[in-house]
Amino acid sequence: MKLFEYNGKEIFRKHGLPVPNSKVASTVEEAVAAQAEIGKKCVIKAQILSGGRGKAGGVKFASNEAETREAAGAILGIKLKDLQVNKVLVEECADIRRELYMSVMMDTEHKDVVVIMSASGGMEIENNADTLVKMSIGWQCKFEQFDVRNLLYKAGLETKYTDQISNILTKMVEVFKAYHATLVEINPLVITGEDKIIACDAKMNIDNNIIPYNEEIQAIIRSDPESWASELFKLENEFDYLDLDENGEIGLLSTGAGLTMAVVDKLKAAGASPCNFIDIRTGGFKGSTARLETALHHILAAKNVKVILVNVFGGITDLNEFAGLLVKALQKVEVKLPVVVRLQGNNFEAADETLKAAGYKAIESLDEAADEAIKHIGG
Ligand code: GDP
Ligand code: MN
Repeated sequence: MKLFEYNGKEIFRKHGLPVPNSKVASTVEEAVAAQAEIGKKCVIKAQILSGGRGKAGGVKFASNEAETREAAGAILGIKLKDLQVNKVLVEECADIRRELYMSVMMDTEHKDVVVIMSASGGMEIENNADTLVKMSIGWQCKFEQFDVRNLLYKAGLETKYTDQISNILTKMVEVFKAYHATLVEINPLVITGEDKIIACDAKMNIDNNIIPYNEEIQAIIRSDPESWASELFKLENEFDYLDLDENGEIGLLSTGAGLTMAVVDKLKAAGASPCNFIDIRTGGFKGSTARLETALHHILAAKNVKVILVNVFGGITDLNEFAGLLVKALQKVEVKLPVVVRLQGNNFEAADETLKAAGYKAIESLDEAADEAIKHIGG
């Protein structure tokens, strides 16, 4: 998941990274109050889960109430880069003498973590790609002061900044590790008129696998349910669910992310469109139908859904136990649609009996089940 700049800066502040004074605002009045409190020239920045805001007109300057009103009013509520702007960051304007670029990121291709730096940061970084220098720090994220000196030398930046940059990089790595980030980026990292280095932007991408274990990230997700809807859904229900096609005709109730993707591919190849992706995770039911009911309610909310295709491979899961829960959930939610059930694995025969007693049946072959589901949509 991506974080907003203001989330990133709050994290930076907590870890001792130098960031300007700032306040987040969701109305023009709040922005005006924030600028008054900061009491200096401010930069008003659109908060969206995307970069490139400067070029798109999402970064403006304001020194007094009237200017803040105008800037915040022009940004709040608009669509920027196709994203709705609901918040602005009101930040003390930095006295920028020079803009650098610095990031710590996962290099998945090489199973490595790398630090990337440029002495020509800012909005034109894409056009200055030839100025980027890279340093590998390994998955343990280790580096020495002399590595930083070397990096600055290669980037063409005076080595008198080694101490400040070392300090900043140490803290960026600390943040990178603590939040299981795949990217921590500061662009621009600014050298001020007083030769101080500060972070004027903050971009963080986080590996979603950490969400169940990190309460701080959970709090961030809950602070803005609209922006992280699918993360929140997964957090609260402990399973993966994504709407794929609002006009989709086949509702999927499936387990295993890989198996589910294979089913989605299969249906699409046959010209059918599943309305959702789901990994229901049969291992966590603990005898309760709650998770199945939630999933069924979501599937039934799709306006064109005509059939539900259940697909469960039971390695450890007892298919008969699952079949019992499925029948209960289907009855509780009063599902009127046809339900095609494909099961394979542990205790298949007993599961088939349980389904038959309730008017359903189990199909063992995925091809057959897919064909059957497609028949129900007139394919
Ligand atoms: P992005 O375009 O989404 O990456 O947004 P940034 O936060 O990087 O802001 C874009 C540009 O606005 C920066 O590259 C700076 O040139 C400028 N900018 C941002 N904050 C400040 C500031 O505090 N003072 C000044 N003078 N310029 C700023
Ligand atoms: Mn930036």
